[in-house]
Amino acid sequence: MKKRVYIKTFGCQMNENDSEKVLILLKEDYIPTDDPEEADLIIVNTCSVREKPQHKVYSEVGRYKPLKKKKNHLLIGIMGCVAQQEGENLIKKLPYVDFVLGTQSFYQIKEVIKQLQKDPKPIVLTELTKEFKPPLLLPEETLPKTTEKVTAFVTIMQGCDNFCSYCIVPYVRGRETSRPPEEIIEEIKRMVELGVREVTLLGQNVNSYGLKEKGYPDFPELLNQISAIEGLWRIRFTTSHPKDLSERMIRIMAENPKICHHIHLPLQAGSNRILKRMNRKYTKEEYLEKVAKLKELIPDIAITTDIIVGFPGETEKDFEETLEMLKTVRYHEIFSFKYSDRPFTTAKNFEDKIPEEEKERRLKLVQELQKTITQEIYQQYVGKEMEVLVEGFSSKSKTQLMGRTTTNVIVNFSSPRLDLKGRLVKILIEEAGKHSLKGTYLKTLK
Ligand code: SAM
Ligand code: SF4
Repeated sequence: MKKRVYIKTFGCQMNENDSEKVLILLKEDYIPTDDPEEADLIIVNTCSVREKPQHKVYSEVGRYKPLKKKKNHLLIGIMGCVAQQEGENLIKKLPYVDFVLGTQSFYQIKEVIKQLQKDPKPIVLTELTKEFKPPLLLPEETLPKTTEKVTAFVTIMQGCDNFCSYCIVPYVRGRETSRPPEEIIEEIKRMVELGVREVTLLGQNVNSYGLKEKGYPDFPELLNQISAIEGLWRIRFTTSHPKDLSERMIRIMAENPKICHHIHLPLQAGSNRILKRMNRKYTKEEYLEKVAKLKELIPDIAITTDIIVGFPGETEKDFEETLEMLKTVRYHEIFSFKYSDRPFTTAKNFEDKIPEEEKERRLKLVQELQKTITQEIYQQYVGKEMEVLVEGFSSKSKTQLMGRTTTNVIVNFSSPRLDLKGRLVKILIEEAGKHSLKGTYLKTLK
């Protein structure tokens, strides 16, 4: 009989994708479970991009300590960015943990478990190499987490070379490397065979895909190759670094009907002085030029962004420039964060830190302003007929279905038929909520 594995994932889509890869790696011996109590193996996949999620790791792992007493053979492991960053320290602080696997080392999980079954001495693997290429792991039909899905993530590149002054990612995910295009295409074809209709291509900076590799297509060309896959209806990607978003790329987004009309374009801050200190390598003016091009060539484009408030040295005037940018660009949604010091980064050593209460105040102001803008934008959808790819039941009700527009807005809708998962339907939008739209089914398109 197969054993059971429980994985708790924190952080970004990249981590979610890595957790799915772990399930594929373990498929011969383990099946996934949603209940840690019945697990033989518990893995916590961690995030260290900000201080808060990093702290959560200790309380999360601590919750499983009592289970070890009940089940002698239970193994507990930590992977992800905190594992990479802390390595041995985690075993010192949490001595009941059996293994710590870094962001490139988790691919060795099978061998690590075998070794632990022979000898229970904790194992820590956190090597990061420039030459690293992740192995090709195709989705498995026997794994409910990697199948039964209409939408899926595909990691196309690992690591980051940008070294934004606040960011830990280059230190815990290593140097930027792109996966070979033929592997990406093989993985997506397999997903499509299993019922996936929409993929989101993941990378810290997808616009620089392939540029450092000999003979690889660049990102616009990769998009064209992927869009040739039959049965794949929609393509999304994240994240686009504004400095590398080219006009050619915007044109391809406009011309290729499979590419969704949404772009996540992290601004971080609206003041050129702060952008420079952040080492973002674009100015507010250059950013706005790209936004103008996007809106010109793709009039219904939805733009979302990341904002950091209270970066060291951010004055009230700098902060107001961020608010101004929100008003000018009119993002569909923003993800906003209070700046927090991260190990290894240069901003950690900047002196003029902003007090916590002030960061809190700025965060509230940003979020309040955005709430109004999102509401106004969502209101404009009311009365329109939108194409929606149905992902399943709505989170609140089993009598309603849920899907997304090309602009990545969630639509909950009622329908005489409930067996529409995986279909592209037309919905009349009738109501705008805070984070989603409501509508009624009109017809099935595909
Ligand atoms: N590669 C993406 C980019 O360049 O925008 C984002 C990667 S990061 C995982 C996600 C977001 O976390 C960033 O866009 C930034 O807004 C936020 N972030 C990163 N470091 C941070 C820090 N030290 N304090 C607060 N927010 C941070
Ligand atoms: Fe971090 Fe900047 Fe790289 Fe994004 S581009 S992962 S913010 S260093």
